[in-house]
Amino acid sequence: MKILVINCGSSSLKFQLIDSETEQWLAKGLCERIGIDGSQIVYQKAGGDKETTVSPMPDHTEAIRLVLEALTNEKTGAIKELSEIDAVGHRVVHGGEKFASSTLITPEVIEAIKECNDLAPLHNPANLIGIDACQKLMPGVPMVAVFDTAFHQTMPPEAYMYGLPYSYYEKYKIRRYGFHGTSHSYVSKKLAEDLGKKPEDLKVIVCHLGNGASVSAVKYGKCVDTSMGLTPLQGLIMGTRSGDIDPAIIEFIAHKENKNIDEVMTILNKKSGVYGLSGDLSSDFRDLEDAYNKGDEKAKIAVKTFCYNVAKYIGAYTAAMNGVDAIAFTAGVGENAAFVRKLICEYLGFLGITIDDAANNTRGDDTVISTKDSKVTVMFIPTNEELAIARETLALI
Ligand code: ADP
Repeated sequence: MKILVINCGSSSLKFQLIDSETEQWLAKGLCERIGIDGSQIVYQKAGGDKETTVSPMPDHTEAIRLVLEALTNEKTGAIKELSEIDAVGHRVVHGGEKFASSTLITPEVIEAIKECNDLAPLHNPANLIGIDACQKLMPGVPMVAVFDTAFHQTMPPEAYMYGLPYSYYEKYKIRRYGFHGTSHSYVSKKLAEDLGKKPEDLKVIVCHLGNGASVSAVKYGKCVDTSMGLTPLQGLIMGTRSGDIDPAIIEFIAHKENKNIDEVMTILNKKSGVYGLSGDLSSDFRDLEDAYNKGDEKAKIAVKTFCYNVAKYIGAYTAAMNGVDAIAFTAGVGENAAFVRKLICEYLGFLGITIDDAANNTRGDDTVISTKDSKVTVMFIPTNEELAIARETLALI
């Protein structure tokens, strides 16, 4: 079967056409600047080069029309006709408490996703626009919603409740939800497979360290805690997001800098994290590593604070699961930044973790980076959210 995976943002749209038998992508790409001047589509067929075409995209329907046109293009298309697409899997950011797993999209499901819009006002409406556009252009093709929050719905109340008046949970559903669930689920299962074990037999900590970053505790195949919260702002220090701070800082900055709540929230989301800590040097760990090696003090503080923070979460989640068998690093930083993995693991000697530097300094497919006698197995495992969405979609059609 051929499954089209769509990840629709407010002004961008990523897509991948996946062959479910081989689990390889047949074509993939990105539409950028939807609804803004200068929109373009980047398209690549498997085995071919990336092509960039500038084309007006006033809305998402036009973006998806261009994607379908590229996929069926006589010369560079990956399929001859649209009817070859058997199903579409949509990434949906917030499923609230309504969705603990992926689901076939029906009119009722769309209404239920709309009800979660309050919880992710930037993301869910864009995801719904993508679903609507696909339904218009591919009537009758089954569509599946795969939620970032679903995998974390197994958390117990003591992990997801905040120390706030209970009525806020009842009235507004304020609680921890967690994100990157598709990645945490995929990587925790892949790790078990790599180790020749069943997920039900393992206590695993997954560190998804990308521009956005989160950690999860997966006990016997089920998520029992995760670092992101009601929104993706909570938890680890990230590329540009602050992660955990004293909430009183918001009021403090507002007074000192004469800013309103929205302005302070923009600072916490876009100007903080390792970017802010490094004195606005960069949110990219490649730049930070260079600066760190050249002795830049702020870059050192940014990297060390980031690593210390991840290590503290690993300690906390070891307590939450009463032990840990394996730790996996994934996403842009987790898969590529060997020096970050090394610095994090230096805090974990108390768990009996020792790192094999030669293995750690490699890149590529799933790799064990701990030594043979390490008490906990540590790996890096490239995440593949698109493949995970395609698998979920296939399972539901
Ligand atoms: P997201 O999906 O959250 O945008 P990614 O998982 O793609 O993020 O991660 C992007 C980040 O990965 C970059 O900002 C950079 O910090 C880091 N990264 C990517 N490649 C490398 C590399 N070779 N070395 C170190 N860090 C890298």
